[in-house]
Amino acid sequence: MRELYADVIVDISHEKLDKPFQYLVPDRLREVLETGMCVMVPFGNGNKLIKGYVVDLGDICKFDPMRTKEIRDIVKGGVGIEGRMIALASWIRKNYGSTMIQALKTVLPAKQSVKKLEHRTILRLMSREEILSLLGESKRKKQVAKERILQQLADQESLPYEWVTGKLGVSSQTLKSLEKAGVVRIQSTQFFRNPVRMEQGEKSSQALSADQKKIVTQVITDFDAGRQETYLLHGITGSGKTAVYMELIGEMVARGRQAIVLIPEIALTYQTLLRFYQRFGDRVSVMNSTLSIGEKYDQCERAKKGEIDVIIGPRSALFTPFPQIGLIVIDEEHESSYKSESAPKFHARETALEVARLHGASVLLGSATPSLEAYYRAQTGNFKLFTLKERVTGGNLPVVHIVDLRRELKEGNRSIFSRKLQELLSDRLARGEQSILFLNRRGYAGFISCRSCGHVMKCPHCDVSLSEHKGGKLICHYCGYEEAKPDVCPQCGSKYISGFKAGTQQIEEKLKEMFPNVRTLRMDADTTRTKDSYERILSAFSNGEADVLIGTQMIVKGHDFPKVTLVGVLAADLSLSVSDYHGGERTFQLLTQAVGRAGRGILPGEAVIQTYQPEHYAVVRAAEQNYEEFYKEEILYREFMEYPPISHMLAVQIFAKEETRGIDLANTLAAMVKGALGIRLIGPAPASIGRINDIYRFVFYIKCHEYDKLVRIKDFLEEQMKELLSRNELVQFDFDPVNTL
Ligand code: ADP
Ligand code: ZN
Ligand code: ZN
Repeated sequence: MRELYADVIVDISHEKLDKPFQYLVPDRLREVLETGMCVMVPFGNGNKLIKGYVVDLGDICKFDPMRTKEIRDIVKGGVGIEGRMIALASWIRKNYGSTMIQALKTVLPAKQSVKKLEHRTILRLMSREEILSLLGESKRKKQVAKERILQQLADQESLPYEWVTGKLGVSSQTLKSLEKAGVVRIQSTQFFRNPVRMEQGEKSSQALSADQKKIVTQVITDFDAGRQETYLLHGITGSGKTAVYMELIGEMVARGRQAIVLIPEIALTYQTLLRFYQRFGDRVSVMNSTLSIGEKYDQCERAKKGEIDVIIGPRSALFTPFPQIGLIVIDEEHESSYKSESAPKFHARETALEVARLHGASVLLGSATPSLEAYYRAQTGNFKLFTLKERVTGGNLPVVHIVDLRRELKEGNRSIFSRKLQELLSDRLARGEQSILFLNRRGYAGFISCRSCGHVMKCPHCDVSLSEHKGGKLICHYCGYEEAKPDVCPQCGSKYISGFKAGTQQIEEKLKEMFPNVRTLRMDADTTRTKDSYERILSAFSNGEADVLIGTQMIVKGHDFPKVTLVGVLAADLSLSVSDYHGGERTFQLLTQAVGRAGRGILPGEAVIQTYQPEHYAVVRAAEQNYEEFYKEEILYREFMEYPPISHMLAVQIFAKEETRGIDLANTLAAMVKGALGIRLIGPAPASIGRINDIYRFVFYIKCHEYDKLVRIKDFLEEQMKELLSRNELVQFDFDPVNTL
């Protein structure tokens, strides 16, 4: 038998991770030692016994075998904060696939002492698909700087401004133009500092409603009885979820525990922060990408020392090294930004469950439109479900009209506004009430549909839409199926078959042609250029400085406009036809949010949903604001097609410098798992953008009902890869992918 060696780090800090020491594993520990374990090792000339952590195991000795020392023993039991971080990293490595070093770097803060006063961050405003399609465009146009930043944005939701203008060599003009085009928003730290300086309001908490109280009581009763569970709070916007979170956090703090509140970076608004600061004062802190590495490190130190009780932030706030967490809240639990897009591709929801397990904490997920994953688990008894059906502040659900755009065309209306929407707009203008026009641009990348009959070109095997590629080809991004782009609609023979292209600017122009005196505000153009402009537009609209607000998905999030009595959704189906299985879910979420914007105040509201697929259940159920029915239909589709959450899916992504090598690798790896019992193999196929920066990209998918089996397949492939891969090649794993590659 060959000797077994362990890489051990003796100083557990981000900076020392790349310098592990190698030790020999004694026979008696061979079977039990795992990566992530805490061990006692002899160290230095005097062989003093110190604690270390195993970050890797292997049978190759990197030093002189005669002089390699032996691990003395395994340290049993939990070892405080550090031990938990290591255990978490080890769990992430195992379940999502990455090296132990990558996983550790994800969970441990980097130390850095240099501090600057102002930091800026570039926030991505578009979906990954949209970014990829822009990337393709700038490649064709040879805009190299733009290409570099878009490439980064494809995998990250935010980037440090200084890094982009420095290392990445992207000019501030390029960034400005991207901001102008609504691709990114540039945000400064100042925004996150302000709230701290605010006067701390009266600490007295709102008296909760009976429904809210019931939730708090149940969670706390469970907690005190030692049952730390996961709860899903399904409640429409304004139903009082945040108030429940704060009350529960207060209870945890009273018990000497800490709390983590995750919110999507883009939803981290001034108002939200203010509420937390008013309640918890300087015991609350914000983790955010505009903070410098040094500031983040300081936050972590404060958390370790017990100087703060609550941290609010996106995904990475989950790794705040608190001594003993009592509650993890994930607000807007359905947001896709909770999934990391760079290795390790962990999902914050699943990872939160593991953090909670390590700490003995409860988890509370909140959403107005829960993810299918979370709701499925609530249905199957894994999670406990709470529902808040009513808005605390009152207001009625709007009356919703679904307009069939095929009929509009047939009856001679070729404008982007349906007759119903025109009629209601002019009515609102006459009455001096406000309207919102929402352009659903999510996933506008590349699908083809018929304007006469609404037919969408789909893959016959995967039931997702085909994407248009250069040379008139339509390709499925799951299985690689391809066909030629038709000249006429295969369903009805119409020649109006094409992709959809219309921007907010065009909508504004058309609106002004139709209503010359209309006062408009636009949400994604020149308007969001400067600092704080986002907030400024929203408050200008709140103050009645415009009749109509036009924008993309960013206007449907969060904010309340009591005077809005009409919402128009211009192209509801754009998000239905994204080339992955989340199309229905995303559409339902967006439409529900958009429709919910109308009628928040005393005046009743109306909404118009324009669509080519008026009978699609995602459209119909969103119009009814009926999540439960939507869920029933969507879960049937997932069941039928064996998509998550019914089954699990592992994406194996292959990156190679040479195209033929890439194909070979993909085929070889796929062939290795093909025969395995209980799995279904899909692909290999070229990725949606088949080549970026001269690296060819291929992908195949494995569907399987057992997650653990997919983990084992990943481990197996990782083992095989060691022999197969050369320096210019890389394989990544993505479990239950949120985006197609
Ligand atoms: P959500 O997080 O579900 O959107 P919030 O907690 O933000 O809901 O509540 C919506 C509004 O109602 C907020 O302005 C909040 O201050 C208020 N609110 C919440 N709970 C109560 C309550 N029990 N009594 C009075 N106002 C409340
Ligand atoms: Zn047609
Ligand atoms: Zn397919």
